[in-house]
Amino acid sequence: MTTRQAGRDLDTSRPHSARMYDYFLGGKDHFEIDKEAALVASQAHPGIYMTARENRAFMHRATRVLAQEHGIRQWLDIGTGIPTEPNLHQVAQSVASDARVVYADNDPLVLKYAERLMRSTTQGRTAYIEADVTDPDALMSAVEDSEVLDFDQPIALSLNALMHFITDPHDPYAIVRRLLDPLPAGSALAMNHCTPDFDPVTWNKVAEVYTKSGSPVQFRSHSDIGRFFDGLDLIDPGIICCHRWRPADRTDGPEPTDAQISLLAGVGIKR
Ligand code: SAH
Repeated sequence: MTTRQAGRDLDTSRPHSARMYDYFLGGKDHFEIDKEAALVASQAHPGIYMTARENRAFMHRATRVLAQEHGIRQWLDIGTGIPTEPNLHQVAQSVASDARVVYADNDPLVLKYAERLMRSTTQGRTAYIEADVTDPDALMSAVEDSEVLDFDQPIALSLNALMHFITDPHDPYAIVRRLLDPLPAGSALAMNHCTPDFDPVTWNKVAEVYTKSGSPVQFRSHSDIGRFFDGLDLIDPGIICCHRWRPADRTDGPEPTDAQISLLAGVGIKR
């Protein structure tokens, strides 16, 4: 595994979304300030722990579907989060041991744990890059420098629970187009994104908590999330709430509602 970083220091003076998410998933890699902000968010939406787990489960299923049904062997996963087993490369390499994955995140804490948890098979490869998606040129040049991905072969761009942190002034649609541009035909975009569509009162409160704690968010409607997939062929079942996207048999209780989860997910293939 190789790592590369942009040289930012760990900022523990304010909560960070990656560490709040780690708390929701029951992890240990967060600070008291992150836990406090996460608890405030969970007052706005007590089901947020389940949302985090369903988000993660969608990433597992989408990765497996892309590897098994679309022959994808390479991933660029941006907004990776603090490593939580299984990570994307472990899912991909369980289908194809030669799968290659480049991870990127802008929280220095993710880098701290990257080495420990992102160990590749010997046939495959992984790399970790500390980069900010709002500077896609720098991010893509770091990806190229890592020499893990072959840009002549299809690559899946994984933006899981990331783009709602990118508000409109950063032009999120242009960012995604810039990231997809160098990828060859047969590549994919797999993403999910928070929406206020099903329960605006609750999710606007959650958005307020994040924004006030220093991580501005913009939750988007189904049609606005659909725009990220412009020009791609959406695979079945299109863009729907992530727990219903190619669902696995549920063994952990009743199916949640769309309002509880409120993460719209889709996978599109580049022609
Ligand atoms: N993709 C993981 C984690 C989602 S949490 C999963 O779905 O399980 C969102 C992640 O996006 C956090 O790790 C946070 O640090 C990262 N992130 C937020 N803004 C970012 C930015 N501008 N550039 C890169 N990563 C960012």
